[in-house]
Amino acid sequence: MASCIFCKIVEGSIPGEKVYEDEHVIAFMDIMPVTKGHVLLIPKKHCENLYDMTEEEAANLFKAAPKIATALKEEFQPAGMNLLQNNGSFAGQTVYHFHMHLIPRYDKSDGFQLEFQPKVEQFPTDVLTELAANIKQRLDA
Ligand code: 5GP
Ligand code: ZN
Repeated sequence: MASCIFCKIVEGSIPGEKVYEDEHVIAFMDIMPVTKGHVLLIPKKHCENLYDMTEEEAANLFKAAPKIATALKEEFQPAGMNLLQNNGSFAGQTVYHFHMHLIPRYDKSDGFQLEFQPKVEQFPTDVLTELAANIKQRLDA
């Protein structure tokens, strides 16, 4: 039996409220939902995080996202929808099997908070140009 909690849900050895399944992925209700309709989308194959996934595995996973999001939108009619995916404990990852949160949003006090604090002075255009060049160099290598 798998030791990973999400692998156990995939193999059916512990219960999960599944909403979608295909050859590559399953989606199920988060057991501690932040809002009504909070769903997790995961690959069936154990991958710890995004860095651990192949392009094909990532494509197979995201391919399922629009239809699940649309079903949530139609069922719950939220005001919006956040997709969130945490990599590493510092970023808030607590289960080390890749998962994408689909979180329907209703209002400012619906239980989900995400605040951007832009640092425009620290990262003016010339700095952005340099950062972009460095990233691009890695991607082109
Ligand atoms: P993370 O913080 O790693 O991005 O999110 C992990 C999510 O998995 C949490 O929202 C948590 O509620 C959910 N979760 C943890 N254990 C279980 C479980 O056994 N079943 C289900 N359905 N969700 C779980
Ligand atoms: Zn796993």
